[in-house]
Amino acid sequence: MITSQTLASGGLWLNLGGTQILVDPGPGCIVRATDKKLNAENLSAIILSHLHLDHSADMNIMVEAMTKSGHNQHGVLFLPPDALAPEPVVFSYLRNYVDRVVVLEEGGEYSVDGISFTTPVRHIHKPITYGIVFKTPRHTFSYITDTRFFDDLCRHYGGELLIINTLFLEPRPESTDPLLPTDHLGITDAEKIIRELKPKTAIITHFGMGLWQARPQKIAGSLTEKLGIKVIAARDGMEFDLGELDIDK
Ligand SMILES: [Zn+2]
Repeated sequence: MITSQTLASGGLWLNLGGTQILVDPGPGCIVRATDKKLNAENLSAIILSHLHLDHSADMNIMVEAMTKSGHNQHGVLFLPPDALAPEPVVFSYLRNYVDRVVVLEEGGEYSVDGISFTTPVRHIHKPITYGIVFKTPRHTFSYITDTRFFDDLCRHYGGELLIINTLFLEPRPESTDPLLPTDHLGITDAEKIIRELKPKTAIITHFGMGLWQARPQKIAGSLTEKLGIKVIAARDGMEFDLGELDIDK
């Protein structure tokens, strides 16, 4: 999906009451962001959920853009420990351009420019990764990044909005083959999570080829009907207004 750019992979750009935070700047982030007239210099932080290339490829260029090549030193980088060593995702000279580099940990609580977030639990995924629960003065929402499903997962996430990285139609059994990715959620997992956590809205994203061919928009439509909860299949460049969560249905 990434190498053919069948779907875009630039990550999530949050604007929370004016505080702008970039999450998981994958391949194409700089191109997609500039196309949409999003100004990286306005970012307060970049959060990397894990080092996999589809989440991290544009980290360096986005630090360069956020800090105007070091001429506008500011901002915070949040990343898991294995994104700094042994193979750092961000070049050391670029790390000098930001105010702080913060290493994420399980159960960590962080804040930046009036927005707080937590990384409640380590996921089942090869690199170290945690999902994120964001709290703004008006909303709470969760980003469930790459993981295999585990029983305790739902307990850690909640909020009016869930963003769920859903790669498969059906979850895959574990495998020792390093070329066969298995530690990802499937649609049936996403359904379980939404049913249990009952957000006002859920957004599924990060589709693999099989799921893409099965038409995520159609699947989201049937999940919405089945669960009585609005499920949206993300589209390239899609914008979601958190204000929609305040409208009573
Ligand atoms: Zn991953």
